[in-house]
Amino acid sequence: MKMLSAFLTDIERIEIKEVEIPEPLEGEVIIKVRSALTCGTDLKMYLRGHPKFKFPMLFGHECSGVIYKVGAGVKNFKEGDEVMFANSASCGECYYCKRGLENLCVNLFNNIFLGAYSEFAKVPAKIVQKNMFMKPESLSFTQASFLEPVSCVMNGIENLKIRGGDSVLIIGDGAIGLMFTLVIKKLFDVYLIVAGKHAERLNLALKFGADEVVNVAEFDLDDKLKEITSGIGPNLVIECTGKPDVWEKSVDIVAKGGEVILYGGVPAGTKVKFDATKLHYDQITVKGIFHFTSKDVRKAYEFLSDNSDRLVEMISGKFKLTQLPEAFEKLANRSGIKYEIEP
Ligand SMILES: [Zn+2]
Ligand SMILES: [Zn+2]
Repeated sequence: MKMLSAFLTDIERIEIKEVEIPEPLEGEVIIKVRSALTCGTDLKMYLRGHPKFKFPMLFGHECSGVIYKVGAGVKNFKEGDEVMFANSASCGECYYCKRGLENLCVNLFNNIFLGAYSEFAKVPAKIVQKNMFMKPESLSFTQASFLEPVSCVMNGIENLKIRGGDSVLIIGDGAIGLMFTLVIKKLFDVYLIVAGKHAERLNLALKFGADEVVNVAEFDLDDKLKEITSGIGPNLVIECTGKPDVWEKSVDIVAKGGEVILYGGVPAGTKVKFDATKLHYDQITVKGIFHFTSKDVRKAYEFLSDNSDRLVEMISGKFKLTQLPEAFEKLANRSGIKYEIEP
């Protein structure tokens, strides 16, 4: 039987093709996609390709759906189950997995899911085993599709020492910055500041619980932070832009004894500079953050099950699968935060 599936065939080139519905191999499942979401990573792939994948490639990694067929040996799921899942799973056997650094697994890209922008999609065995869940009835398929990005946010939070009363600065008003806002304000009693350039997104940050927003297109961030934090600076900074100058700025503005997590990826080979005095005498901690572990996925699943009603406010519009190129043109022009794609 045939289905429609989107392929990224070159830089800024999406083709919707008719292909065979895949057959599940041992441990795999085929799902009928019910909802898919665009993501910043997809936009990056669309604009510059991906070092780990070659054109033409299946496209999209955030989705949920109904199991259409299960491969041999799948015990925990059956045909007809409504499921949600993260887009990768660690092997559990490599050097890094054994050290508990699952997100750095050397086999991560062998167990990765692509093809959310399709009528049907194949989920790799390791994901079925480790990072797939039954969708609670209380969640819509749209809400369930947020599992992967919220897992990434949970890894960021896991790596921060957040204390009650801290001031936390999120730089970047994209989807990830907004998700951090929502999750941190639900889970911690902190003073949260979001800095960005888009009035509309910053308004959403306020709705998601931010105590203060700074539009850096209008105000100087340093001046504003001095005012807000009485000259001390934010205790924690979460960088979500992937811009080298913002990486540098994040280290520059954090309070003494504070922590910075660098979340937004920058292109390979990028060099950044930090003031050594700041690192040493101010004893700050700077951490890179990548991807997630199964523990983060479980936490994201629990968060969604209890608190998912607000996330959908980030969705700027819906498109049919055949209109996918239109959605990406919009994203490339910085119009919209996330779009939902319906097969
Ligand atoms: Zn994503
Ligand atoms: Zn591994």
